[in-house]
Amino acid sequence: MPDGELLFVPLGGAGEIGLNLNLYGLREQWLMVDLGLSFADETLPGVEIVLPDPTFIAERSERLSGLVLTHAHEDHFGAVPYLWPRLRCPIWCTRFTAAVLARKLEDADIKGVEVHVVEPGERFTVGPFDCSLLHVTHSIPESHALALRTPLGNVLHTGDWKLDPAPLVGPLTATDDLEAFGREGVLAMVADSTNILNPGTSGSEAEVRDSLRKLIGTLPNRVVLTTFASNIARLETAMHVANEAGRMVAAVGRSMHRMIDAAREVGYLEDVPPLLDERAASELPRDKVLWLATGCQGEPRAALARIAAGQHPTVRLEPGDTVIFSSKIIPGNERTLYNLHNSLISRGIEVITERDHFVHVSGHPCRDEVEQMYHWIRPEIAIPVHGEARHLHEHLAFARRLGVPQALEVKNGDLARLAPGPAMIIDEVPTGRLVLENDQLIAAEDEVFRARRRLMNHGTVLVGLVLDQYGGILASPQVSTFGAADLERAPGLRDAVLHEIEDAVEALDDDAVMDDERVRIAVRTAVRRALRLARDRRPIIEVQITRLGREALEHLLDETEPA
Ligand SMILES: [Zn+2]
Ligand SMILES: [Zn+2]
Repeated sequence: MPDGELLFVPLGGAGEIGLNLNLYGLREQWLMVDLGLSFADETLPGVEIVLPDPTFIAERSERLSGLVLTHAHEDHFGAVPYLWPRLRCPIWCTRFTAAVLARKLEDADIKGVEVHVVEPGERFTVGPFDCSLLHVTHSIPESHALALRTPLGNVLHTGDWKLDPAPLVGPLTATDDLEAFGREGVLAMVADSTNILNPGTSGSEAEVRDSLRKLIGTLPNRVVLTTFASNIARLETAMHVANEAGRMVAAVGRSMHRMIDAAREVGYLEDVPPLLDERAASELPRDKVLWLATGCQGEPRAALARIAAGQHPTVRLEPGDTVIFSSKIIPGNERTLYNLHNSLISRGIEVITERDHFVHVSGHPCRDEVEQMYHWIRPEIAIPVHGEARHLHEHLAFARRLGVPQALEVKNGDLARLAPGPAMIIDEVPTGRLVLENDQLIAAEDEVFRARRRLMNHGTVLVGLVLDQYGGILASPQVSTFGAADLERAPGLRDAVLHEIEDAVEALDDDAVMDDERVRIAVRTAVRRALRLARDRRPIIEVQITRLGREALEHLLDETEPA
């Protein structure tokens, strides 16, 4: 990295929503902004969490000056417990993020992390970077844009933000600071693209409070409200409107309790009615309680899924009770959530979602808000991140329409030079995704997941073959299938498979039959033919070959013949 260049490298979050990891480079030093994770979809069966591959920066960790966390959402800081041991750099963030991070690090038993707590607006330096975190509203307290000042130009890394005129918890977006930063001159703005496809504005937490107040005031019986535990304003709303409707509130779910604790530790949720413990709440009349539950995305181990399945130790629902999903459906979670809705509805429980009532607002800026931010910041270069390709593409066009001189398209692993000269991609660095598998981090592209997907979609056939020293078949082959074909389905199918296998092995010449790999290929072809598998059916056909030499055979005969 030459001395006089300002570089930007996204290793996660450019081309996807989730697992954000951004790097800025200057004078041989790197600054990392955010280190998030994502949750696995059906392409990674058996996997829960997905992390950005940090190899590029882990290999030069001695030149990583630090990590700045914009806020405490999983997609921005959730990978810290997993990847920090490879980076071992100091961390900067504000108080609430630090309180949530401390609980995470303690859970993971990670010690020795140097965490610097800074105030919003305060200037601090990380290596060659002059930094300040400017407060923005979002769906969690203390979200920030990062203002970077460098001799080669200033950068605003927006993080996740919106312009909520009444966020309920925490201050308004620091528009004066943003405007002032814009007046200093901003070279590049690296910006949130989540809602760029949505016109207008994203709405306010206060509007959700009004709507929930009216709604909950009319509901009979028990009410369960589920939302992201980190949305402290929404939790506060639930506590207030329940109280006004004459209901006590109890929280269920570990992450709900932890977020409430972290919020209280730094001074949020101070003016809310006291929470009831689970047991006391379960003894209240049905119309005197509101349960605040984790699991708004249908997570199988979260409180709501257990409540819906009738397996929660204290919360029981009956026909006539209501569950409010005060949250959005994250793309990819539809099926899981609809199954959860269905299981509740089929038990006579009312389900209310954002599709049938105003119970949620997004934490990300819609187009009018993004336009406002461009007017304040007036960057030379727009760099859209935090979006899938369709979001980034639209954001690039939007920035151009607003008259931003340069709009730079980046994807994970691009090494972009922001200055000097026009911004451009000058190189690519290693990038990828890691997954946690049995406490080990392995590549998401690993063979094990290809095999698992194939097993899931096509099943498997196991063949056991015992051959003598000349390649002759010593015993009838053993065949079992799991999810690939039912051998008892058609009369004679098992016999047909065995005959095809025997014929295929016997048809091999003397050399081929002594070569395990060639035997396997012949057996696989024979199995496919006998089962009449369509071309697109690809079960894993596993062939185990045991070869018994003369000595082994004689030994076996000695043991089986009476002396
Ligand atoms: Zn995010
Ligand atoms: Zn966020």
